[in-house]
Amino acid sequence: MKYAKNILETIGNTPLVQLNKVTAEIPALVLAKVETFNPGNSIKDRMAVKMIADAEADGRLQPGGTIIEGTSGNTGMGLALAAIVKGYKLICVISDKQSKEKMDILRAVGAEVVVCPTDVEPEDPRSYYSVSKRLAEETPNAWYVNQYDNPSNAQAHYEQTGPEIWEQTEGKITHFISGVGTGGTISGTAKYLKEKNPNIKIWGIDTYGSVFKKYHETGIFDQDQVYSYVTEGIGEDILPKNVDFSLIDGFTKVTDKDAAVYTRRIALEEGIFVGNSAGAAIKGMLQLKAHFSADDVVVVLFHDSGSRYVGKMFNDDWMREQGYLDDHIAVAKDLLQTKAAQPLVFARTEELVSHAIGRMKKFHIAQLPVIDSTGFVGSIDQDTLLKHYLIDKDMADTPLREVMGKPYPIIDEDTPVDQVSPLLEQHAAVLLKTKDGKHNLISKTDLINTIK
Ligand code: PMP
Repeated sequence: MKYAKNILETIGNTPLVQLNKVTAEIPALVLAKVETFNPGNSIKDRMAVKMIADAEADGRLQPGGTIIEGTSGNTGMGLALAAIVKGYKLICVISDKQSKEKMDILRAVGAEVVVCPTDVEPEDPRSYYSVSKRLAEETPNAWYVNQYDNPSNAQAHYEQTGPEIWEQTEGKITHFISGVGTGGTISGTAKYLKEKNPNIKIWGIDTYGSVFKKYHETGIFDQDQVYSYVTEGIGEDILPKNVDFSLIDGFTKVTDKDAAVYTRRIALEEGIFVGNSAGAAIKGMLQLKAHFSADDVVVVLFHDSGSRYVGKMFNDDWMREQGYLDDHIAVAKDLLQTKAAQPLVFARTEELVSHAIGRMKKFHIAQLPVIDSTGFVGSIDQDTLLKHYLIDKDMADTPLREVMGKPYPIIDEDTPVDQVSPLLEQHAAVLLKTKDGKHNLISKTDLINTIK
């Protein structure tokens, strides 16, 4: 019979899959090491089990002990599987930037999850680095994993990921590309590969808001490079001991938008449903295109599964809110795409200024078309109100008919945007008449919101 004695024995030996479309412009053979085939759906299973085994071996982790870690989710999943099989308790400290799915998944496998704010300095007592350390000190029989500085992290990849890639490519690999977070994946894999063939080039994928690229290029830890970002799993505001900069030939930074867009493209073009750092890695590879030639064998690492991002990168509403969807803006109706469909808000000539202002506040809008029984006859907006305010400050009870400005121009759905923008220079808004005879308002803000 051929079976694993427990789930941990199924970790590793993940497939290497050729990419055929998403990297078509790269002349080399491009192969993805797809780590979602691990039981916890990420590469982190490998190092989680290794860190626990090493801590058991030298007595840092005692039977029945509590494992504590600041983890963005994937390491937590690996630790959780090992904790279940080996009989430990697990507390995961996670930053509030992480997707809700990641937190729910950790709870599903028995971890206690403690959520901390993202936008605080690492030294701040509320940061997830500080909270994990404090919990480790306060909890009896606890072991703080510290994946950032724990050498067993990189060692797992030296022992497994590196040799697997070397064997699967029969030693033909020329470049290795991987997102860098703790640095364990890239450093351990790179060490093994460079020992086998020092000519293999190692590229790290970094993100805007992280210190790695600049530190690698200049030796300067630049606090100004640190700001919050959307991409998950890669980039840091600290220098983890697991990043061995001497093994990395270069870094490239990928924007949040590009990482998100390419995460979707991998799923759609290759049928490989992987996470956000895989998108960053593919876009990073395309940025590095000039470094690859037809004889090269480029291996890119896909760390985790797309299922953890269904509420984010794989959700159209989320993508649109972030401004990551390139909705094509050509004609007037395209300007309304991002606005939730809502009926036109208007006022009548015989209503009072106070009514109009109340309605603007209620609907969070800054302009109202004014109608009477004949149709659109005027408009109320900041300009018209201000003009009248200079004449009469007590205008709350004045009928709109006495205060209103000219009616807004009416355009049809297919009016080119180039003709809409000059109109918005002269008017606070324009009215768009749809094919079924309804009217929508396009404001200056609607136009500005299309700028990405
Ligand atoms: N991608 C994802 C999704 C991750 O969770 C991580 C781990 N933080 C990484 C990439 C980076 O891997 P490493 O920590 O080994 O550098």
